[in-house]
Amino acid sequence: EAKRAGGSCCVLYEKSMSDEGAEEVLMRQALRESLERGDLVLHYQPKVHCTLGRVQGLEALLRWEHAQFGQVSPEIFIPLAERYGLIGAIGHWVIDTACAQLAQWQAQGLRCRISVNLSPHQLRQPDLVERIGQALAAHRLRPSQLECEITESTMMEHSVQERATLERIGALGVRLSIDDFGTGYSSLAHLRHIPAQQLKIDRSFVTDLASSEQARHVVQAVIQLAHGLGMEVVAEGVETPAQMRVLGAQGCDLVQGFYIAPPMPAADVPGWMRDREHTPSLWSPLMGPAG
Ligand code: C2E
Ligand code: MG
Ligand code: MG
Ligand code: MG
Repeated sequence: EAKRAGGSCCVLYEKSMSDEGAEEVLMRQALRESLERGDLVLHYQPKVHCTLGRVQGLEALLRWEHAQFGQVSPEIFIPLAERYGLIGAIGHWVIDTACAQLAQWQAQGLRCRISVNLSPHQLRQPDLVERIGQALAAHRLRPSQLECEITESTMMEHSVQERATLERIGALGVRLSIDDFGTGYSSLAHLRHIPAQQLKIDRSFVTDLASSEQARHVVQAVIQLAHGLGMEVVAEGVETPAQMRVLGAQGCDLVQGFYIAPPMPAADVPGWMRDREHTPSLWSPLMGPAG
């Protein structure tokens, strides 16, 4: 049924297909329908205290499972959503859904923060700050329970207007986190003017941590710089106990990655949290046997 309906759409878009590429046009139509139908879902990936193992937060990551295209990566469909003016609606849905989910978990006794990713286009939405405030109020969350992750390049290269938006988000009491740090070619001098409480070291630096002395120096310097500026540090993309041991020894605050947990459907989170609470040695290689 759905496929046949999709097929007839193609005809309507035939002309623009030659300009933009057939697949993109199909994806745009499908994305619009998925948003309306509620086919987008959030998965959640824990941010865990490096040495103590406590879960400090959960990052919401958007997933799109399409009947025809299968799982589409957010790296592909977020830029499409931006280009086609859908990012505002999708972004609001993400913020509201993540807040609703945290409120529900909180009622079940889970204590942690929730993080959402914001794209540069969202910072230009005039009602973004208001929508964030509304979501917090609707779900009775304290502002400090919400964290907005914004990539380094967006944080540093923003216009006056985007900068004002960042500051208004911060003024609500919502935390700001610099995502993918180290990939943005930004001036370090800028960093001290960014109103963020958290810095996430990009996965590319973490990957080489156990094998490269240079990588260790870079990560150590970033951790010291962030701490010197009063920011908490998260290492992204931690996949091995060896990487985790280095990060712990270097004084990294939080870790996130497949070694701890992949992004999970919401239904899996409470069980995962309870399992970890009861077996701390499993996931803190600093306390467990070397390997
Ligand atoms: P990000 O915010 O830097 O998220 C981290 C990405 O690394 C996620 O990919 C995650 O699944 C993946 N990852 C986590 N741990 C590991 C690991 O140990 N190894 C490896 N190889 N990968 C790991 P994902 O979910 O595909 O998201 C990609 C990007 O899409 C995100 O990067 C974020 O910038 C963007 N994104 C995701 N959800 C949203 C959203 O709701 N709104 C906006 N604006 N952007 C989003
Ligand atoms: Mg992120
Ligand atoms: Mg990142
Ligand atoms: Mg990223």
